[in-house]
Amino acid sequence: MPVCLPAWCKDQTQAALDGLPATFEWCRSRGLTGLQTAQLLDDIAKTQRDSVVQFAVLVQPVWQLMDSYVAAWAAQQQQAGGSKLRKHISLAEALCGNATAAEALGMPPGHVEAWLAAVSQQLPAAAIGGLLLGKPHVVCGGLDKAPAVISWAVNVLGVADPAALFARSPGLLKFGVPALQRNLDSLRQALGWPAEQAQQLVLKQPVLLTSSPDTVQAALAWLQQLFTDAAQLAGVINRGTRLLGRSVQHLQGNADYLRQALGWQEGSSQLAAFVAACPDGFANVSLNLADTQHKLRLLSEVVGVSTEDCLTSGMNYLNKRLVNIAARYMLVQERAPHLLYSRSGEPYLSWIVNANKPQYLCCLDMSRDEFNAFVRGWPASAEGRRLLAGLRAGSVEGWPRPPTWEEAQQQLQKAQEQQQQVELRILLSRRLVKLIDMTHKTCGGSCASEQLRAGLEARLAANKAWAAEKGAAYFENLQGIHNIEVLWIGCSDARVPANELIGLKPGEVFVARNVGNLATHKDMNIMACIEYAVQVLKVKHIVLCGHYGCDAVQSALTMPCKTEGLVSLWVQDIRDTRDRNVEALRQLPPGRAQADRLVEMNVLRQVCNVCTAPVVQQAWDAGQPLAVHGLVYSISNGLLKCMYTTEGAATQPGSFLKSNSFCSSPASVAVPGSWASSSGSSPPSVAADDEGRASEEGSVKDGSGSVKEAQKSLAALSLAEERLSYEL
Ligand SMILES: [Zn+2]
Repeated sequence: MPVCLPAWCKDQTQAALDGLPATFEWCRSRGLTGLQTAQLLDDIAKTQRDSVVQFAVLVQPVWQLMDSYVAAWAAQQQQAGGSKLRKHISLAEALCGNATAAEALGMPPGHVEAWLAAVSQQLPAAAIGGLLLGKPHVVCGGLDKAPAVISWAVNVLGVADPAALFARSPGLLKFGVPALQRNLDSLRQALGWPAEQAQQLVLKQPVLLTSSPDTVQAALAWLQQLFTDAAQLAGVINRGTRLLGRSVQHLQGNADYLRQALGWQEGSSQLAAFVAACPDGFANVSLNLADTQHKLRLLSEVVGVSTEDCLTSGMNYLNKRLVNIAARYMLVQERAPHLLYSRSGEPYLSWIVNANKPQYLCCLDMSRDEFNAFVRGWPASAEGRRLLAGLRAGSVEGWPRPPTWEEAQQQLQKAQEQQQQVELRILLSRRLVKLIDMTHKTCGGSCASEQLRAGLEARLAANKAWAAEKGAAYFENLQGIHNIEVLWIGCSDARVPANELIGLKPGEVFVARNVGNLATHKDMNIMACIEYAVQVLKVKHIVLCGHYGCDAVQSALTMPCKTEGLVSLWVQDIRDTRDRNVEALRQLPPGRAQADRLVEMNVLRQVCNVCTAPVVQQAWDAGQPLAVHGLVYSISNGLLKCMYTTEGAATQPGSFLKSNSFCSSPASVAVPGSWASSSGSSPPSVAADDEGRASEEGSVKDGSGSVKEAQKSLAALSLAEERLSYEL
């Protein structure tokens, strides 16, 4: 389940937490989702904690300034046809896509402003905007470096369009001019090409300027052994942007591996042909001998991509670690096998590097955190250890094979249909509510709709029959009941009949019910009920009762907080409880177990709300006998479970719940029967009265005692809640 709270919140000051809603709101106005904002704040906090605390003061102005450059870039792109706009639409996206980019927002005050001012004198605003989109953290470099490098590129390299050069190689801006000049001289000398040709190579591959002279010379010597023809070598170097920047060990290691894996002979022309055909792939991947073998076996024998394809088109993908590739494969083939294929149905390896990108995560139905946790955890799991050990020993036994492309397509279609059905059902229920509402409006309350009218008439008839069956004596009795001892706060769920559960008649329980049995202090209705029950009715017990299988709790667990509608808003309090206890909940299997635990946590939270309600506190201060109990009802077997009771603390000695042998310990006891057996069919008013008076007398003698006891009981309550959420 997604949790929208950044990790650093846990140990933040109140001031920072107070500023959070505004921060989230501001980020939302820049196009970030809540989850992205939380991630970004986490990233910023890693470099500059203070910047997060003072987001509005430090970060917003910098972000706005950078945005103005990005806007200039976007305007230019739009004029030119807007082809690039689709890929990077906003700085917000660039900042979220790159964890190190958050460094830019976490720089000391004034740095980014000064950097932009200096570079603005040499590059147009639109070009800087493009740089910021590609590599936002370019602004983290020293203030004097970037302007000097731009001048050097224009004057020494003869670059006509510095904006285009640095758009391709923004990394150069963080280098010093002396180092660049040294690398350039050395490169020219080593190549020994005509000046113009060398110049062209550098302009085409400016990244070569960031490699040290030793590396370039050694790589060149290695390549000269492979390609004795100078013209052919020049061609390969011109196409392979990274070859000259690689160490000899790297190049030789890759060559050795290919020879061994593919059975090429030393001195044969096969290696040269491969490097010539695929220079970038050869340069970019590091074919660590042992692991690559296993990766190739996994990809060819399990996933079904030919070794040749892996080495040519999939070469860049082999950079990932074996355990990483294996874990990603397990996820993708299980949850979204269509991602293993291209649109035309060919095996396609992009999932190796892209599986953690938003569009893939969406198909996998996972958050980034969940994905990372799986990829980290799977290799250490029993299954992961077994499969990886087998693979390393040369066997692919036990690895799940991916479904064929056709099967994957069918699976995808099914999932989409299911999703549509869910959406349709939500839509239908909304329509229905609207329809009923309209019917009532048009008929002015007289229910013109025939069906509704028939339904109402049937209910009214049933009511007549019921009243007749009860008889006049029953209603006379009810009028005589003035001694209401219990306030029941429960869920609106139709399957939880308050008074029946505890064996009391309708007149003996004061009932307040709402969706999810909430008792928040902001709810006027419930607070008024408690006030009336405690001050006027002088109830001795407040029962806060939840129930397993509660739809409200289930919604809070799974319904995203962005969901529209009042129900979503109403269950926010339960969502908060969920988020506070997310660690404990995650230790349970998803679904029923988590929902049931959250039901219990919600009861404890609401008991806490009741205990801290002013009217309850005042009653305890005044020594009024009053106990609060948190119960959970099981719809499947009709039993109540006691989660918490103040009894034994605020009201001494125990009263009706204890005397009826349920709630005295957190064990389930069949309720209606036990009530009847201990007190007979009449309400236990006599016994409870005696005990109540005893308690009242006790507190008159020592008024402060009851306050202390109430506080003790509150402390015990939070302990109970903690125990439940962290230990279980
Ligand atoms: Zn419910």
